[in-house]
Amino acid sequence: MRNDNWYRQDGEYRMIDGIKVPGFIGGTRHFIRLCGKSIAVDSGIGLDSNGEIKVQYLPDGNNYVGERIDLILETHKHFDHSGSLPALMWHHPEALMLMSTKAFEGTRVTLEDSNHIAFKEAEKARKMGLPIPKPVFTEEQLDFFYNNPNLRVVDLSWWVDLNKEFSTDEWAGWEIGLHSAGHDVGASSFFIIAPDGNRIFLTGDIASHPTVVPGVMLPDDEFLGDFFTGGKVIMITEATNGGLRMAKPRSEVNREWDDIVRKTYERGGIVFNPSYAASKGSDRILKSLHLGLPIIVDGLVRDHIRVELPEIDELIKNGKVIFIEEDKNKKEEAWRQRMEYTRGEHGCVIYIASSATLNQGIASAIAPEILPNEKNTTVFTGHVFDDSVAKTILEIERGRTLKMTNLVKGRIEPIYVNVRCGVRHLDDSSHDYQGGLIERVRLARPETLIVHHCPGEASFNAFAEQIRSLPHPPKKLIWGLNGRKILF
Ligand SMILES: [Zn+2]
Repeated sequence: MRNDNWYRQDGEYRMIDGIKVPGFIGGTRHFIRLCGKSIAVDSGIGLDSNGEIKVQYLPDGNNYVGERIDLILETHKHFDHSGSLPALMWHHPEALMLMSTKAFEGTRVTLEDSNHIAFKEAEKARKMGLPIPKPVFTEEQLDFFYNNPNLRVVDLSWWVDLNKEFSTDEWAGWEIGLHSAGHDVGASSFFIIAPDGNRIFLTGDIASHPTVVPGVMLPDDEFLGDFFTGGKVIMITEATNGGLRMAKPRSEVNREWDDIVRKTYERGGIVFNPSYAASKGSDRILKSLHLGLPIIVDGLVRDHIRVELPEIDELIKNGKVIFIEEDKNKKEEAWRQRMEYTRGEHGCVIYIASSATLNQGIASAIAPEILPNEKNTTVFTGHVFDDSVAKTILEIERGRTLKMTNLVKGRIEPIYVNVRCGVRHLDDSSHDYQGGLIERVRLARPETLIVHHCPGEASFNAFAEQIRSLPHPPKKLIWGLNGRKILF
Protein backbone atom coordinates (compact mmCIF):
# COMPACT_ATOMS: atom_id res chain seq x y z
CA MET A 1 0.00 0.00 0.00
CA ARG A 2 3.03 2.31 -0.13
CA ASN A 3 2.40 5.49 -2.08
CA ASP A 4 -1.29 4.87 -2.07
CA ASN A 5 -1.80 8.10 -0.14
CA TRP A 6 -2.18 11.02 -2.47
CA TYR A 7 -4.00 14.26 -3.25
CA ARG A 8 -5.33 15.84 -6.39
CA GLN A 9 -7.05 19.19 -6.92
CA ASP A 10 -9.56 19.03 -9.74
CA GLY A 11 -10.75 22.61 -9.99
CA GLU A 12 -7.73 24.92 -10.15
CA TYR A 13 -8.57 26.37 -13.55
CA ARG A 14 -10.80 28.89 -15.26
CA MET A 15 -12.72 28.67 -18.46
CA ILE A 16 -12.16 31.87 -20.37
CA ASP A 17 -14.35 32.15 -23.46
CA GLY A 18 -14.57 28.39 -23.67
CA ILE A 19 -10.83 27.75 -23.23
CA LYS A 20 -9.40 25.98 -20.18
CA VAL A 21 -6.71 28.06 -18.46
CA PRO A 22 -5.02 26.25 -15.54
CA GLY A 23 -3.71 27.95 -12.40
CA PHE A 24 -6.70 30.08 -11.45
CA ILE A 25 -9.51 29.90 -8.92
CA GLY A 26 -12.30 27.91 -10.54
CA GLY A 27 -14.80 25.55 -8.99
CA THR A 28 -12.88 23.92 -6.13
CA ARG A 29 -12.83 20.17 -5.63
CA HIS A 30 -10.25 18.22 -3.65
CA PHE A 31 -9.72 14.49 -4.05
CA ILE A 32 -7.88 12.70 -1.26
CA ARG A 33 -6.83 9.06 -1.30
CA LEU A 34 -5.88 8.02 2.22
CA CYS A 35 -5.60 4.60 3.91
CA GLY A 36 -7.72 2.92 1.26
CA LYS A 37 -10.51 5.53 1.35
CA SER A 38 -11.46 8.06 -1.29
CA ILE A 39 -12.54 11.41 0.09
CA ALA A 40 -13.87 14.33 -1.93
CA VAL A 41 -13.97 17.78 -0.38
CA ASP A 42 -16.17 20.51 -1.90
CA SER A 43 -17.64 20.53 -5.36
CA GLY A 44 -17.97 24.01 -6.75
CA ILE A 45 -18.70 25.63 -10.04
CA GLY A 46 -16.83 28.22 -12.00
CA LEU A 47 -18.45 30.93 -14.08
CA ASP A 48 -17.40 31.76 -17.60
CA SER A 49 -19.13 34.65 -19.24
CA ASN A 50 -19.15 33.49 -22.81
CA GLY A 51 -20.23 36.69 -24.53
CA GLU A 52 -23.70 37.57 -23.27
CA ILE A 53 -24.40 34.21 -21.63
CA LYS A 54 -23.05 33.03 -18.28
CA VAL A 55 -21.87 29.44 -18.48
CA GLN A 56 -21.36 27.41 -15.31
CA TYR A 57 -18.57 24.86 -15.49
CA LEU A 58 -17.57 21.93 -13.33
CA PRO A 59 -14.29 20.75 -11.85
CA ASP A 60 -12.48 18.00 -13.80
CA GLY A 61 -13.15 14.31 -13.26
CA ASN A 62 -16.69 13.78 -14.60
CA ASN A 63 -17.98 13.59 -11.01
CA TYR A 64 -15.84 10.42 -10.61
CA VAL A 65 -18.50 8.34 -12.31
CA GLY A 66 -17.53 4.67 -12.05
CA GLU A 67 -15.27 5.17 -9.03
CA ARG A 68 -16.19 4.58 -5.41
CA ILE A 69 -16.25 7.64 -3.15
CA ASP A 70 -16.35 6.88 0.57
CA LEU A 71 -16.82 10.33 2.01
CA ILE A 72 -17.80 13.78 0.79
CA LEU A 73 -17.03 16.83 2.93
CA GLU A 74 -18.06 20.42 2.34
CA THR A 75 -16.16 23.39 3.74
CA HIS A 76 -18.72 26.15 3.07
CA LYS A 77 -21.63 27.44 1.06
CA HIS A 78 -20.00 29.74 -1.50
CA PHE A 79 -20.87 28.65 -5.04
CA ASP A 80 -17.26 28.00 -6.04
CA HIS A 81 -17.22 25.32 -3.31
CA SER A 82 -20.79 24.02 -3.26
CA GLY A 83 -22.35 24.71 -6.66
CA SER A 84 -22.01 21.20 -8.11
CA LEU A 85 -22.45 19.15 -4.92
CA PRO A 86 -25.89 17.81 -5.94
CA ALA A 87 -24.41 16.30 -9.12
CA LEU A 88 -21.45 14.77 -7.29
CA MET A 89 -23.65 13.28 -4.58
CA TRP A 90 -26.14 11.96 -7.10
CA HIS A 91 -23.42 9.86 -8.73
CA HIS A 92 -22.25 8.59 -5.33
CA PRO A 93 -25.12 7.36 -3.22
CA GLU A 94 -22.52 5.10 -1.53
CA ALA A 95 -20.67 8.11 -0.05
CA LEU A 96 -21.18 9.39 3.47
CA MET A 97 -21.48 13.15 3.64
CA LEU A 98 -20.55 15.58 6.37
CA MET A 99 -20.72 19.35 6.81
CA SER A 100 -21.63 22.00 9.36
CA THR A 101 -25.28 22.83 9.95
CA LYS A 102 -24.87 26.42 8.81
CA ALA A 103 -22.92 25.38 5.70
CA PHE A 104 -25.84 23.15 4.77
CA GLU A 105 -28.50 25.82 5.38
CA GLY A 106 -26.49 28.39 3.42
CA THR A 107 -25.79 25.94 0.60
CA ARG A 108 -29.53 25.52 0.13
CA VAL A 109 -29.81 29.25 -0.59
CA THR A 110 -26.78 29.15 -2.90
CA LEU A 111 -28.10 26.19 -4.87
CA GLU A 112 -31.60 27.57 -5.27
CA ASP A 113 -30.06 30.77 -6.58
CA SER A 114 -27.70 28.96 -8.92
CA ASN A 115 -30.66 26.96 -10.23
CA HIS A 116 -32.54 30.20 -10.79
CA ILE A 117 -29.61 31.85 -12.61
CA ALA A 118 -29.13 28.78 -14.86
CA PHE A 119 -32.84 28.90 -15.69
CA LYS A 120 -32.70 32.59 -16.53
CA GLU A 121 -29.56 32.21 -18.63
CA ALA A 122 -31.19 29.35 -20.54
CA GLU A 123 -34.22 31.55 -21.17
CA LYS A 124 -31.95 34.35 -22.37
CA ALA A 125 -30.03 31.98 -24.66
CA ARG A 126 -33.30 30.68 -26.11
CA LYS A 127 -34.47 34.22 -26.85
CA MET A 128 -31.18 35.11 -28.48
CA GLY A 129 -31.12 31.91 -30.53
CA LEU A 130 -27.89 30.71 -28.88
CA PRO A 131 -27.12 27.14 -27.75
CA ILE A 132 -28.70 26.51 -24.35
CA PRO A 133 -26.12 25.78 -21.64
CA LYS A 134 -26.52 22.40 -19.94
CA PRO A 135 -27.51 22.80 -16.29
CA VAL A 136 -24.90 21.70 -13.72
CA PHE A 137 -27.49 19.71 -11.77
CA THR A 138 -31.13 18.70 -12.13
CA GLU A 139 -34.09 19.26 -9.79
CA GLU A 140 -34.01 15.56 -9.02
CA GLN A 141 -30.36 15.74 -8.00
CA LEU A 142 -31.07 18.79 -5.86
CA ASP A 143 -33.83 16.90 -4.12
CA PHE A 144 -31.52 13.96 -3.49
CA PHE A 145 -28.97 16.32 -1.95
CA TYR A 146 -31.53 17.67 0.53
CA ASN A 147 -32.85 14.25 1.46
CA ASN A 148 -29.74 12.09 1.23
CA PRO A 149 -29.93 9.56 4.11
CA ASN A 150 -26.10 9.57 4.23
CA LEU A 151 -25.88 13.28 5.00
CA ARG A 152 -24.99 14.39 8.52
CA VAL A 153 -24.72 17.99 9.68
CA VAL A 154 -22.97 19.01 12.89
CA ASP A 155 -22.59 22.22 14.84
CA LEU A 156 -19.10 23.72 14.89
CA SER A 157 -16.71 22.88 16.38
CA TRP A 158 -16.89 19.09 16.58
CA TRP A 159 -14.85 15.88 16.37
CA VAL A 160 -16.84 13.24 14.54
CA ASP A 161 -16.66 9.50 15.15
CA LEU A 162 -17.82 8.30 11.73
CA ASN A 163 -18.58 4.75 12.92
CA LYS A 164 -20.90 6.06 15.58
CA GLU A 165 -22.44 8.81 13.48
CA PHE A 166 -23.21 6.53 10.54
CA SER A 167 -23.69 3.26 12.47
CA THR A 168 -20.97 1.45 10.55
CA ASP A 169 -17.67 -0.29 11.34
CA GLU A 170 -15.78 0.81 8.24
CA TRP A 171 -14.07 3.80 9.77
CA ALA A 172 -12.18 2.33 12.71
CA GLY A 173 -9.19 4.49 13.62
CA TRP A 174 -10.42 7.57 11.78
CA GLU A 175 -11.15 10.89 13.43
CA ILE A 176 -12.49 13.96 11.66
CA GLY A 177 -12.66 17.39 13.24
CA LEU A 178 -14.62 20.34 11.91
CA HIS A 179 -13.62 23.75 13.21
CA SER A 180 -14.76 27.24 12.25
CA ALA A 181 -12.53 28.77 9.55
CA GLY A 182 -13.59 32.35 10.24
CA HIS A 183 -14.34 33.08 6.56
CA ASP A 184 -18.13 32.73 6.75
CA VAL A 185 -20.93 31.53 9.02
CA GLY A 186 -20.53 27.74 9.14
CA ALA A 187 -17.29 27.72 7.10
CA SER A 188 -15.13 24.85 8.31
CA SER A 189 -11.56 23.69 8.31
CA PHE A 190 -11.15 19.90 8.36
CA PHE A 191 -8.76 18.00 10.60
CA ILE A 192 -8.47 14.40 9.44
CA ILE A 193 -6.60 11.71 11.36
CA ALA A 194 -6.19 8.45 9.43
CA PRO A 195 -5.58 5.02 11.00
CA ASP A 196 -1.94 5.08 9.77
CA GLY A 197 -1.34 8.23 11.84
CA ASN A 198 -1.24 10.62 8.87
CA ARG A 199 -2.93 13.91 9.44
CA ILE A 200 -4.56 16.19 6.93
CA PHE A 201 -5.31 19.79 7.80
CA LEU A 202 -7.45 21.34 5.09
CA THR A 203 -8.01 25.01 5.82
CA GLY A 204 -10.91 25.68 3.44
CA ASP A 205 -11.39 29.39 2.72
CA ILE A 206 -10.10 30.93 5.92
CA ALA A 207 -9.66 34.23 7.76
CA SER A 208 -7.85 35.02 10.99
CA HIS A 209 -9.43 38.47 11.13
CA PRO A 210 -13.07 38.97 12.08
CA THR A 211 -15.53 38.75 9.20
CA VAL A 212 -19.19 38.00 9.81
CA VAL A 213 -17.81 35.55 12.40
CA PRO A 214 -14.72 35.81 14.62
CA GLY A 215 -11.41 35.09 12.88
CA VAL A 216 -9.52 31.84 13.48
CA MET A 217 -5.76 31.38 13.18
CA LEU A 218 -5.76 27.83 14.54
CA PRO A 219 -8.13 26.04 16.91
CA ASP A 220 -7.16 25.99 20.58
CA ASP A 221 -5.16 23.16 22.16
CA GLU A 222 -8.23 21.59 23.64
CA PHE A 223 -9.65 21.01 20.16
CA LEU A 224 -6.31 20.12 18.56
CA GLY A 225 -4.99 17.68 21.16
CA ASP A 226 -1.93 16.02 19.56
CA PHE A 227 -3.07 16.76 16.01
CA PHE A 228 0.08 18.62 14.98
CA THR A 229 2.51 16.44 16.98
CA GLY A 230 1.12 12.89 16.78
CA GLY A 231 1.94 12.10 13.13
CA LYS A 232 2.92 13.41 9.73
CA VAL A 233 0.96 16.56 8.85
CA ILE A 234 -0.11 17.37 5.32
CA MET A 235 -1.57 20.86 5.14
CA ILE A 236 -3.78 21.98 2.28
CA THR A 237 -4.16 25.73 2.38
CA GLU A 238 -6.15 28.19 0.34
CA ALA A 239 -4.14 31.14 -0.99
CA THR A 240 -6.63 33.58 -2.52
CA ASN A 241 -4.59 36.48 -1.14
CA GLY A 242 -1.30 34.54 -1.00
CA GLY A 243 0.48 37.24 -2.95
CA LEU A 244 -1.20 40.15 -1.20
CA ARG A 245 -0.12 41.89 1.94
CA MET A 246 -2.85 43.60 3.87
CA ALA A 247 -2.66 47.18 2.65
CA LYS A 248 -3.94 48.63 5.90
CA PRO A 249 -5.12 47.34 9.24
CA ARG A 250 -8.70 46.17 9.44
CA SER A 251 -9.55 48.93 11.94
CA GLU A 252 -8.55 51.53 9.36
CA VAL A 253 -10.79 49.98 6.69
CA ASN A 254 -13.67 50.06 9.17
CA ARG A 255 -12.94 53.72 9.96
CA GLU A 256 -12.98 54.55 6.26
CA TRP A 257 -16.44 53.03 5.95
CA ASP A 258 -17.66 55.12 8.90
CA ASP A 259 -16.15 58.19 7.32
CA ILE A 260 -17.77 57.58 3.92
CA VAL A 261 -21.16 57.08 5.55
CA ARG A 262 -20.85 60.25 7.67
CA LYS A 263 -19.79 62.42 4.72
CA THR A 264 -22.61 61.08 2.55
CA TYR A 265 -25.06 61.77 5.37
CA GLU A 266 -23.81 65.35 5.63
CA ARG A 267 -24.26 65.82 1.88
CA GLY A 268 -27.80 64.46 2.09
CA GLY A 269 -27.14 61.44 -0.12
CA ILE A 270 -27.51 57.71 0.35
CA VAL A 271 -24.82 55.02 0.63
CA PHE A 272 -25.18 52.21 -1.89
CA ASN A 273 -23.41 48.92 -1.18
CA PRO A 274 -23.74 46.40 -4.02
CA SER A 275 -22.96 43.19 -2.16
CA TYR A 276 -22.27 39.53 -2.68
CA ALA A 277 -25.34 37.66 -1.56
CA ALA A 278 -23.51 35.36 0.85
CA SER A 279 -21.80 36.58 4.05
CA LYS A 280 -20.97 40.10 2.91
CA GLY A 281 -24.40 41.58 3.56
CA SER A 282 -24.46 40.36 7.15
CA ASP A 283 -20.91 41.59 7.64
CA ARG A 284 -21.88 45.06 6.39
CA ILE A 285 -24.91 45.19 8.68
CA LEU A 286 -22.75 44.38 11.70
CA LYS A 287 -20.24 47.05 10.65
CA SER A 288 -22.97 49.68 10.22
CA LEU A 289 -25.31 49.32 13.20
CA HIS A 290 -23.31 51.75 15.36
CA LEU A 291 -23.80 54.49 12.75
CA GLY A 292 -27.47 54.76 13.63
CA LEU A 293 -28.79 55.06 10.06
CA PRO A 294 -31.54 52.82 8.65
CA ILE A 295 -30.04 49.84 6.79
CA ILE A 296 -32.13 48.81 3.77
CA VAL A 297 -31.59 45.30 2.41
CA ASP A 298 -32.73 44.08 -0.98
CA GLY A 299 -32.35 41.03 -3.21
CA LEU A 300 -31.12 37.51 -2.54
CA VAL A 301 -28.78 38.77 0.18
CA ARG A 302 -31.87 38.76 2.45
CA ASP A 303 -32.14 34.96 2.30
CA HIS A 304 -28.52 34.52 3.31
CA ILE A 305 -28.82 37.05 6.13
CA ARG A 306 -31.69 35.02 7.60
CA VAL A 307 -29.34 32.02 7.82
CA GLU A 308 -26.32 34.00 8.97
CA LEU A 309 -27.59 36.49 11.54
CA PRO A 310 -29.60 35.03 14.42
CA GLU A 311 -30.50 38.55 15.57
CA ILE A 312 -32.00 39.66 12.24
CA ASP A 313 -35.67 39.40 13.30
CA GLU A 314 -34.95 41.59 16.32
CA LEU A 315 -33.11 44.15 14.14
CA ILE A 316 -36.05 44.29 11.73
CA LYS A 317 -38.53 44.57 14.56
CA ASN A 318 -36.83 47.56 16.11
CA GLY A 319 -36.42 49.25 12.72
CA LYS A 320 -32.63 49.19 12.53
CA VAL A 321 -32.75 46.98 9.44
CA ILE A 322 -35.48 47.19 6.79
CA PHE A 323 -36.01 44.41 4.26
CA ILE A 324 -37.62 45.55 1.02
CA GLU A 325 -40.99 43.80 0.58
CA GLU A 326 -40.31 40.13 -0.19
CA ASP A 327 -43.78 38.89 -1.03
CA LYS A 328 -43.73 37.87 -4.69
CA ASN A 329 -47.37 38.95 -4.97
CA LYS A 330 -46.50 42.48 -3.86
CA LYS A 331 -43.93 43.41 -6.49
CA GLU A 332 -45.40 46.86 -7.00
CA GLU A 333 -45.10 47.63 -3.32
CA ALA A 334 -41.47 46.44 -3.41
CA TRP A 335 -40.72 48.80 -6.31
CA ARG A 336 -42.47 51.69 -4.58
CA GLN A 337 -40.23 51.16 -1.54
CA ARG A 338 -37.10 50.87 -3.70
CA MET A 339 -37.83 54.11 -5.49
CA GLU A 340 -38.50 55.99 -2.25
CA TYR A 341 -35.25 54.89 -0.61
CA THR A 342 -33.02 55.23 -3.70
CA ARG A 343 -34.40 58.73 -4.40
CA GLY A 344 -33.56 59.79 -0.87
CA GLU A 345 -37.17 60.39 0.19
CA HIS A 346 -36.41 58.86 3.60
CA GLY A 347 -33.13 60.75 4.01
CA CYS A 348 -29.76 59.09 4.30
CA VAL A 349 -29.85 55.30 4.38
CA ILE A 350 -27.35 52.51 3.83
CA TYR A 351 -28.74 50.44 0.95
CA ILE A 352 -27.31 46.92 0.69
CA ALA A 353 -28.37 45.02 -2.45
CA SER A 354 -27.09 41.99 -4.30
CA SER A 355 -25.13 41.51 -6.47
CA ALA A 356 -21.64 42.97 -6.05
CA THR A 357 -20.66 42.87 -9.71
CA LEU A 358 -23.65 45.01 -10.76
CA ASN A 359 -23.92 42.71 -13.78
CA GLN A 360 -27.14 41.23 -12.49
CA GLY A 361 -29.48 41.11 -9.51
CA ILE A 362 -31.55 43.80 -7.92
CA ALA A 363 -28.48 46.00 -7.37
CA SER A 364 -28.09 46.46 -11.11
CA ALA A 365 -31.79 47.27 -11.42
CA ILE A 366 -31.68 50.10 -8.87
CA ALA A 367 -28.22 51.41 -9.82
CA PRO A 368 -29.63 53.72 -12.55
CA GLU A 369 -31.51 55.61 -9.80
CA ILE A 370 -28.46 55.96 -7.55
CA LEU A 371 -25.40 56.41 -9.76
CA PRO A 372 -26.40 59.74 -11.40
CA ASN A 373 -26.87 61.57 -8.07
CA GLU A 374 -23.66 63.30 -6.98
CA LYS A 375 -24.73 63.34 -3.34
CA ASN A 376 -24.71 59.53 -3.18
CA THR A 377 -21.77 57.20 -2.64
CA THR A 378 -21.43 53.71 -4.10
CA VAL A 379 -19.10 51.50 -2.07
CA PHE A 380 -17.82 48.11 -3.22
CA THR A 381 -16.61 46.00 -0.32
CA GLY A 382 -15.63 42.71 -1.95
CA HIS A 383 -13.45 41.36 -4.72
CA VAL A 384 -13.94 43.27 -7.98
CA PHE A 385 -13.98 40.95 -11.00
CA ASP A 386 -12.36 42.01 -14.26
CA ASP A 387 -15.40 41.64 -16.47
CA SER A 388 -17.81 43.32 -14.05
CA VAL A 389 -19.80 46.54 -14.32
CA ALA A 390 -18.39 47.32 -10.85
CA LYS A 391 -14.88 47.42 -12.32
CA THR A 392 -15.99 49.81 -15.08
CA ILE A 393 -17.66 52.14 -12.59
CA LEU A 394 -14.53 52.22 -10.44
CA GLU A 395 -12.40 53.12 -13.44
CA ILE A 396 -14.41 55.65 -15.44
CA GLU A 397 -14.26 59.34 -14.74
CA ARG A 398 -17.08 60.99 -12.81
CA GLY A 399 -19.76 62.27 -15.14
CA ARG A 400 -19.09 59.69 -17.85
CA THR A 401 -21.85 57.51 -19.20
CA LEU A 402 -22.04 53.79 -18.66
CA LYS A 403 -23.98 51.26 -20.68
CA MET A 404 -25.87 48.78 -18.52
CA THR A 405 -28.40 46.16 -19.45
CA ASN A 406 -31.69 45.97 -17.71
CA LEU A 407 -34.37 43.35 -17.73
CA VAL A 408 -37.60 45.20 -18.39
CA LYS A 409 -40.73 43.06 -18.42
CA GLY A 410 -38.74 39.99 -19.51
CA ARG A 411 -36.77 41.85 -22.21
CA ILE A 412 -33.13 42.84 -22.04
CA GLU A 413 -32.73 46.51 -22.81
CA PRO A 414 -29.64 48.68 -22.81
CA ILE A 415 -29.77 51.75 -20.60
CA TYR A 416 -27.27 54.57 -20.38
CA VAL A 417 -26.37 55.76 -16.92
CA ASN A 418 -24.42 58.85 -15.99
CA VAL A 419 -22.10 58.03 -13.09
CA ARG A 420 -21.89 61.16 -10.97
CA CYS A 421 -22.00 59.75 -7.44
CA GLY A 422 -18.87 59.08 -5.38
CA VAL A 423 -17.42 55.61 -5.99
CA ARG A 424 -15.17 53.77 -3.53
CA HIS A 425 -13.67 50.34 -3.09
CA LEU A 426 -12.85 49.09 0.40
CA ASP A 427 -10.60 46.06 0.40
CA ASP A 428 -12.45 44.09 3.04
CA SER A 429 -11.58 40.53 2.05
CA SER A 430 -12.99 37.63 4.04
CA HIS A 431 -9.89 35.62 3.14
CA ASP A 432 -6.63 35.84 5.04
CA TYR A 433 -3.96 38.00 3.48
CA GLN A 434 -0.39 36.80 3.03
CA GLY A 435 0.62 37.49 6.64
CA GLY A 436 -2.18 35.40 8.12
CA LEU A 437 -1.68 32.53 5.67
CA ILE A 438 2.06 32.36 6.35
CA GLU A 439 1.64 32.59 10.11
CA ARG A 440 -0.75 29.62 10.05
CA VAL A 441 1.83 27.51 8.19
CA ARG A 442 4.53 28.61 10.62
CA LEU A 443 2.43 27.45 13.55
CA ALA A 444 1.24 24.19 11.98
CA ARG A 445 4.72 23.18 10.69
CA PRO A 446 3.43 20.68 8.13
CA GLU A 447 5.78 18.25 6.39
CA THR A 448 3.94 18.78 3.12
CA LEU A 449 2.16 21.98 2.09
CA ILE A 450 -0.29 21.93 -0.80
CA VAL A 451 -1.50 25.30 -2.06
CA HIS A 452 -4.76 25.87 -3.90
CA HIS A 453 -7.39 28.60 -4.57
CA CYS A 454 -4.55 30.61 -6.00
CA PRO A 455 -5.27 33.37 -8.54
CA GLY A 456 -2.26 32.83 -10.82
CA GLU A 457 1.45 32.08 -10.97
CA ALA A 458 2.77 35.42 -9.71
CA SER A 459 0.57 35.06 -6.65
CA PHE A 460 1.75 31.49 -6.01
CA ASN A 461 5.41 32.49 -6.39
CA ALA A 462 5.08 35.41 -3.97
CA PHE A 463 3.44 33.11 -1.43
CA ALA A 464 5.96 30.28 -1.93
CA GLU A 465 8.89 32.65 -1.44
CA GLN A 466 7.57 33.65 1.97
CA ILE A 467 6.92 30.02 2.93
CA ARG A 468 10.48 28.98 1.99
CA SER A 469 11.93 31.63 4.26
CA LEU A 470 10.16 30.28 7.35
CA PRO A 471 12.47 28.92 10.09
CA HIS A 472 11.03 25.41 9.56
CA PRO A 473 9.67 25.35 6.01
CA PRO A 474 7.69 22.32 4.82
CA LYS A 475 9.83 19.63 3.12
CA LYS A 476 7.45 19.68 0.18
CA LEU A 477 5.62 22.73 -1.14
CA ILE A 478 3.39 22.12 -4.13
CA TRP A 479 0.75 24.04 -6.05
CA GLY A 480 -2.29 21.83 -6.42
CA LEU A 481 -2.93 22.52 -10.07
CA ASN A 482 -5.91 20.63 -11.39
CA GLY A 483 -5.02 17.05 -12.28
CA ARG A 484 -1.62 17.06 -10.53
CA LYS A 485 -1.28 13.93 -8.38
CA ILE A 486 0.66 14.73 -5.23
CA LEU A 487 1.97 11.79 -3.17
CA PHE A 488 2.16 12.26 0.58
ZN1 LIG B 1 -15.51 31.26 0.13
